[in-house]
Amino acid sequence: MRINPIINFNVNKQTYTNNNTHTQPIIQKHDNFNLNSLNSTYNQISFQANIADEANKYIAETLAKIPLKHRLGALLDAFAPGDLIVLGKNFEKAKEGLFNAIPYMENPIKKVIFMPDQKFKGYVGFMRDWDWGIQAFNLNKFDMTLARDEKRYIIEPGKAINILDNDIIETQGYLLDIKPQESDSLLQFANDFSQTHNFSIDLSNEIEKVNTKILNKMFTESTENNTKITFKDVGGQDKLIEELKKSILYPLKFPEAYSTFDVNKGFILYGPPGTGKTHIARALANEANVNFVSLNGSEMESKWVGESEENWRNLFNSAKEKQPTIIFVDEMDSVAKSRGGKDVHGDKVVNQILTLMTDIDNNKDNIIVIGATNNFEALDKAIIRSGRFSKHLEVKMPDKEGLSKIFDIHTRKKPIDRNLNKDKIIQKLSDLKCSGADVKYIVNEAHSIGYDRMGIYEKMENETLTSKDLRSFYITNEDFDKAIEKFVETRNSTDRKPIGFNR
Ligand code: ATP
Repeated sequence: MRINPIINFNVNKQTYTNNNTHTQPIIQKHDNFNLNSLNSTYNQISFQANIADEANKYIAETLAKIPLKHRLGALLDAFAPGDLIVLGKNFEKAKEGLFNAIPYMENPIKKVIFMPDQKFKGYVGFMRDWDWGIQAFNLNKFDMTLARDEKRYIIEPGKAINILDNDIIETQGYLLDIKPQESDSLLQFANDFSQTHNFSIDLSNEIEKVNTKILNKMFTESTENNTKITFKDVGGQDKLIEELKKSILYPLKFPEAYSTFDVNKGFILYGPPGTGKTHIARALANEANVNFVSLNGSEMESKWVGESEENWRNLFNSAKEKQPTIIFVDEMDSVAKSRGGKDVHGDKVVNQILTLMTDIDNNKDNIIVIGATNNFEALDKAIIRSGRFSKHLEVKMPDKEGLSKIFDIHTRKKPIDRNLNKDKIIQKLSDLKCSGADVKYIVNEAHSIGYDRMGIYEKMENETLTSKDLRSFYITNEDFDKAIEKFVETRNSTDRKPIGFNR
């Protein structure tokens, strides 16, 4: 047992000065445990080395004789919610039992107080509830029993039971009395017969993070009206989703399974406009139940040199506070455009992003950065080659089967005519090489054309609309035909981006 230096004790000590000799401490030896004499020795010893050594030795010997129930009683009387007392021979061996007990712990652990005892059989943990009751955890691989009045309770490995004064815990024949109130005056020696590991500061940081996350979640949930998109809302991208699950979702959800993997933190999603890059990243964040920060690369650029670097630093700092976080940067090419080394300012921004990514890696932050682009070739080579954005995933235009799934997703909640010729519509969408965003646009346009046909907008204008009007409304083949015609006209006039492009 490690004996702490006597000067660490938090008691009123009087300095002993002896003018004749410093070799004889004024302490009496006691064969049996006697708390009063231990107290008096404690209050009389000097800091002068030889006397203090003798006193320490005496205190150690005496403490070793204090019955376990008194030592435990002193700790149980004083420990607070968040403190965990572990009793047993060897702290290392108690750890496995502690992991098994985690599901039954109702408080985060602030301090672990280990009390070694060579005679005790097995391991027990004690934790205080917020209502000041005490729970005893069975940290052994075998059952532990608790005797109260005439009754006996079996506590299985890992499980916990609320204890009361005068209960008796039994482990492999060892009987341990629970008597919290008996041993107040022993508390001043607690550092000598137990070892405290204090995690209060770590815990307060963690509590702050969890609370921030909960509040953030509360605000996001209430503003998003609980309609969270998930992978079920993404059509025609099964292979990509499979890849995203393995390289992002599972590492975020099951970090322990990836402890020996070199987990990638930076990804590039590339593919034509409207193929659902933002949509997929958002679904991924919801599946992982992590914070999602989405921004447009060009929005981060500031005309004031130096400011865009600061914008990036602020973004990563706020992501760290709310981690786990997925940062999604659309139009990544506008920040990390290939500049051939001519644009010094742009190079600085790219370097800043790479430095921030390195920090994430070094600090093992739970942050994933996904950059999206329609123009992979335009991306700065420093970004591509850095190893920081080493996974490049293509988001392809949907094939016919994909279009059919996307169509189902976007018509799922809409009133559709039973006689709709879906195959014909999908063939048209396929011939027109529609993206997911185009399908969404066409479905919404068909809905609106149907409202016109049924005079629903007119009734809204005249305030004569009834729920019966809405119940008898269906989107028909003709509505879709007209919507597709309108789509073709608009696409021919705008040409570049798909008109279903969602901003
Ligand atoms: P851009 O590259 O132009 O930014 P993008 O690839 O990020 O576009 P999104 O903005 O995600 O595309 O797509 C716009 C909308 O189109 C989405 O909000 C979604 O409703 C719909 N969409 C696109 N692809 C799909 C898909 N595969 N499944 C279901 N809906 C999709």
